[in-house]
Amino acid sequence: MKQLSRKFIIIICIIVILFILALLLKPQPEIVKVGPIPKAFNNPTTDLPIKEPRSKEKRENTIPSVVSNKTIYLTFDDGPSYLTNNILDILSQENIPATFFVVGRHLEKYQASLRRAYQDGHTIALHTNTHNYQYIYTSDENYFNDLKAISDKVFNIIGQHSRIVRLPGGSSNTVSRKYNKGIITRITKQLTENNYYYFDWNIDSGDASGQLSKEQIYHNTIASLKDGSNIVLMHDSNTKKSTVEALPEIIKYAKEHGYTFARITKDTLPIRHHINN
Ligand SMILES: [Zn+2]
Repeated sequence: MKQLSRKFIIIICIIVILFILALLLKPQPEIVKVGPIPKAFNNPTTDLPIKEPRSKEKRENTIPSVVSNKTIYLTFDDGPSYLTNNILDILSQENIPATFFVVGRHLEKYQASLRRAYQDGHTIALHTNTHNYQYIYTSDENYFNDLKAISDKVFNIIGQHSRIVRLPGGSSNTVSRKYNKGIITRITKQLTENNYYYFDWNIDSGDASGQLSKEQIYHNTIASLKDGSNIVLMHDSNTKKSTVEALPEIIKYAKEHGYTFARITKDTLPIRHHINN
């Protein structure tokens, strides 16, 4: 009896071992080929932090920039803001590019919008970190420290350094005289020597002054459009809702009148004001 039960246990053990071996030796299914990356990972609006610089290919399928004999460069200063995403939605629907001259104020808060603007193919350009005239125009050193600060912040978000610059108040501003005589003459020279490209504007939407209605912004803009290059000054800040509201109408008018839209690059013919300090 005892011998019989020992035999039985041995048989059970052999069966178990054979079973395990069979499982281990079973041919594995072929590895399934991974399909396209789920859309969510490609979605530029995702809030995932991006440390690695985006590859150049990443931006090749983006909004086209078309330079013609009637070109509009829409430029948005002082963003990002809570309105940036609305602006990007409109630009995306219309399939047109723009240029964003950003400031440091809300950069961290709206970094997802900045990333989206970059990935959609718009130009991310440098305006100022502090936007404090008294600070930046008191010394050349302050100006370039401020520029470096915004440049580094932008780099940390989009992984690219921008060389496109717009001075607060434009290069014709006279406010700077109060703080330092000749500073604009000197810093514009240094910018050029250091491979920065600064741009002013030749069309003013007027949205910087007070609370203009969307009709006023629309009329200010379209009334000044002309053949050649039109660099349009607009603002992307929390109080400029009417700019966003005017935008679709401005684009509609421009398209109907044969204008194309482009983003500013270092190869764009610069529009510059007269330097007054
Ligand atoms: Zn500004």
